[in-house]
Amino acid sequence: MPQQQRSPGLQIGHIFGIPIYLHPSWLIIFALITVMLGVQFTTQHPGWSPTERWALGIVTSLLFFASVIFHEVSHSVVALHYKLPVKSITLFVFGGLSAIEKEPPSAGQEFKMAFAGPLSSFFLAGVFFVIWRFGHFGQFVGTMCYWLFEINLILAIFNLVPGFPLDGGRVLRAIVWGINKDDRRASKIASASGRFFAYLMILYGIWLALKGDWFGGLWLAFIGWFLLEAAKETYVQAALRDSLAGLRTGDVMAREIPTVTRDTSIEEYVDQVLHTGRRSHIVVGGDRPSGLVSLQSARHVPREEWANTSVQAVMVPMEKVQAAKPEEPVLEVLQRMQASDVGQMPVLSDGHIVGMIGRDNILQILQTHLHAEHHA
Ligand SMILES: [Zn+2]
Repeated sequence: MPQQQRSPGLQIGHIFGIPIYLHPSWLIIFALITVMLGVQFTTQHPGWSPTERWALGIVTSLLFFASVIFHEVSHSVVALHYKLPVKSITLFVFGGLSAIEKEPPSAGQEFKMAFAGPLSSFFLAGVFFVIWRFGHFGQFVGTMCYWLFEINLILAIFNLVPGFPLDGGRVLRAIVWGINKDDRRASKIASASGRFFAYLMILYGIWLALKGDWFGGLWLAFIGWFLLEAAKETYVQAALRDSLAGLRTGDVMAREIPTVTRDTSIEEYVDQVLHTGRRSHIVVGGDRPSGLVSLQSARHVPREEWANTSVQAVMVPMEKVQAAKPEEPVLEVLQRMQASDVGQMPVLSDGHIVGMIGRDNILQILQTHLHAEHHA
């Protein structure tokens, strides 16, 4: 699923060192489920007082979200076991989302990591079933446990639907990957399958809505639409990885290095940029590079001071500049650029600048590649 750079919401705690966040959209679903439960308890148990119904509704709803966290944590535990860093777990309108920063390197690891989620939900369903069936804790606990048994069972089964971005899609990908030894092909299949099930969900939701179940139908169609978008995105990412696979920074970097002397004023520099179109320049003084300057750095200085300020005053000094190496895979450089929000990096070899790599170089490669694929 898509991963934001920004803070994903309100932090509510840590589990195994992983921060747990509440996305603002979570409040919507929390309120909906609580209201739905309150209404359900009213019809099922007319004898309960309003306080009893709503209190139980809130507690049940909170336990449902604890179940979702349990599900996500189980993915994370397997990820951590394989030394894959887990950045955060976020609860949002469609449930939980674990931001695991690296793709698992083998089909076996991916299978276990994906399967852990549904397995944990089946486990919880079993626990709540046993408490409901064999525990003697009275009507309130019984009613609550039965609902939690059902919802965890639904969660487990729904997540096993074999399409990206659901757990079942990852399970499918791992199986195809394990058999074919081709992880890119496996991604494409899991993504296509994800789109198929998403369309199915949308159609079924619309059909339900037309038959009169407006709320359930539209909700299902909405989830389907969300899954469709997410499946498309994973497909784009897979295509991107595909196109850039095997390419090294040295293959795509620009060998000509734009420079500017350190006493150039920002005024002159901006003028030069507008004429040449190069967005970043190496600042040189004497014969050694001393930093990197871009139009962005000029923005920190008020317009009227441009004539009297040198680029040296606003440049990023060389020791703080993020640089790439010629042998570094392009995909990794792109990820680093995105993570630190820079558009260009100098390419260093043995301490010498041998070229520049920018998002625009990479984009050009992608365009050529996609164009070629189109005609193949
Ligand atoms: Zn899951």
